[in-house]
Amino acid sequence: MSLSIDVPLKSRNSFSVNAITPALYSADSIDALIEIAHKLEQPFYILGEGSNTLFVEGAAPVIIQAAFKGVEIIKTQDHYQLKVAAAESWHDLVCRCVEQGIAGLENLALIPGSVGAAPVQNIGAYGVEFSDICQSVSWFCFETKKLKKIKKLECGFEYRNSIFKAELKGKGIITSVTLILPKISKPKLQYAGLDILSSNATPKEIMAKVIEIRRSKLPDPKFLPNAGSFFKNPVVSLDLYHELLAVYPKMPSYPQGKNKVKLAAGWLIEQAGLKGFRLGCVGVHEMQALVIVNYGSEKGEDIRNLALHVQKVVFHKFSIKLEPEVRMIGKSGEVSL
Ligand code: NAP
Repeated sequence: MSLSIDVPLKSRNSFSVNAITPALYSADSIDALIEIAHKLEQPFYILGEGSNTLFVEGAAPVIIQAAFKGVEIIKTQDHYQLKVAAAESWHDLVCRCVEQGIAGLENLALIPGSVGAAPVQNIGAYGVEFSDICQSVSWFCFETKKLKKIKKLECGFEYRNSIFKAELKGKGIITSVTLILPKISKPKLQYAGLDILSSNATPKEIMAKVIEIRRSKLPDPKFLPNAGSFFKNPVVSLDLYHELLAVYPKMPSYPQGKNKVKLAAGWLIEQAGLKGFRLGCVGVHEMQALVIVNYGSEKGEDIRNLALHVQKVVFHKFSIKLEPEVRMIGKSGEVSL
């Protein structure tokens, strides 16, 4: 277990805002987690690579990081089973699988963040979600000081949500995930951009296309700090959908079961006239309205204020309250927008 005191977090969050944690614990073994659990006081926050976190105050709570590393691949007759430790990089894992001819992760290329963060928000892109390939998640409980294997069906996976953001929030830490990937899998090519590929495109070709599309639309946080999509795509009732469609016949929409429709948050923000909008040193990205970028502010509060403005303007125009995908963290823990 390592413990560092008064640690600046600017280089540990992809918005690159200033915040200081009084204590940063890092654990790469269960023994280390047990030691931390004995000392731990609320509030604390589990931080991965900081690519979905906005520190909204100058002070942050105590931070815990899982430093577990390693990838184990087991071949069964029909599947590959991968046990991957929490501190591995998600994108490196995708590349490794594609290089080894293991299909199933290629649509999820270039998603920033660690493997341990993937189940928390059930990461997803281009028609594939983490829950599609998850078998189980290993989670250390700070109260019982024991490691628990949580099976996929117990993870409460939903669109950008899971039990780790709900009932288990603040109660433990993910140490590894187990993925199950069929040896024979059908490429998922229904999203625009991938639909131009041939129906038997290889995982390598799909990954290359996903990377090309993402690079053309999404700013690289190394050069323009951001946390990817700031808001979730709203899922609305059929009634509201039809009301809006009458006014905006070109509005993109995706049915969710029989009674709900998913709308594109980026489209709503753009229609509200906010694509490229700036507020001081922060702004809505010029190419992708779903992304908020930091042009040079030191303060997470500035980003939060812009997000509040976006939420207000979109609500005024469409009667839809956008909910953030990014997690907002103040001195006393997670806060809402
Ligand atoms: P887009 O093509 O501009 O489409 C806007 C939204 O419509 C997407 O977010 C997607 O929802 C939905 N959509 C598009 N085609 C769809 C289809 N065939 N079936 C169902 N829903 C569809 O999207 P984009 O912003 O460039 O993003 C492309 C993909 O990368 C999306 O899956 C997006 O979630 C993912 N992405 C995620 C992040 C992040 O930070 N989490 C950042 C960038 C992109 P879904 O989001 O539900 O897929």
